[in-house]
Amino acid sequence: MSDRLVRAISKDGFVKAVAVSTRDLTERARQIHKTLPVGTAALGRTLAAASMMGNALKSSGSSLTLQIKGDGPLGKILAVSDNEGNVRGTVDNPSVDIPLRSDGKLDVGAAVGFDGMLTVIRDLNMKEPYVGSVGLLGGEIAEDLAAYFVESEQIPTACGLGVLVDRDQSVLTAGGYLIQLLPGASDDVITMVEGGIYAAGPVTELLKEDDDPESLLRRVMSDFELEILETTPIEYRCYCSRERMEAALISLGPEELQKLIEEQGDAELTCRFCDNVQKFTKAQLETMLLDMQKKT
Ligand SMILES: [Zn+2]
Repeated sequence: MSDRLVRAISKDGFVKAVAVSTRDLTERARQIHKTLPVGTAALGRTLAAASMMGNALKSSGSSLTLQIKGDGPLGKILAVSDNEGNVRGTVDNPSVDIPLRSDGKLDVGAAVGFDGMLTVIRDLNMKEPYVGSVGLLGGEIAEDLAAYFVESEQIPTACGLGVLVDRDQSVLTAGGYLIQLLPGASDDVITMVEGGIYAAGPVTELLKEDDDPESLLRRVMSDFELEILETTPIEYRCYCSRERMEAALISLGPEELQKLIEEQGDAELTCRFCDNVQKFTKAQLETMLLDMQKKT
């Protein structure tokens, strides 16, 4: 099944939930960044989480950035979602390779690090973006994200994220869910949510059986009657362009650009999120410099 996002609410109105299947976009991220399995898993979990959070933004043109910066070898992991849930992302050190955990699973926690910060930036096209941060709990990302919602936004949240990497290092399955309590939810509702999550088991196992996100939600929230609010296709989507890269060159200022022309001649810019490479010849750079000098 191609990637998609499903948003639902319980019929009693106390629980809202969202789930994604993200195999294709995670595989795309792997191919762009040439991540090894533990990097694929960490970046894939972050992309799935950002997609679910980004889709919750109302206004078009707004975006959500999820940044996880631990003291592990992967360095900073960054994922950006538009308001539909289309994502792009990057990781500082994609070629990190560390031993598997004793249970045979990828050790995402050790690769991310146990000490660090999870930061959420919501850019709603207003003057100041909304920024919230929380210390990492263990670097497994799902628990860290749930803690972020509880601490920073006072929303009781359960989160499951999973990426399963095949023997040839391609992505076999990926996705996750985010379940949040709405005001007025009783202790019984909380017990039902927790019981459902526990009974359903790990996300990767559920996705391996059936990677339809609606089916994922129905299995994790088996004790609730769900009303499906939205089903949206999602993909790996970057908004870079030659114009934006040109703007980045111009933002260097005339002195820096002059230096670049003298030292390098031409310039080749690669997008940090995708495989878009743009070349600027010496003549093109000199024209840009002349334009800048005319304006000042
Ligand atoms: Zn790009």
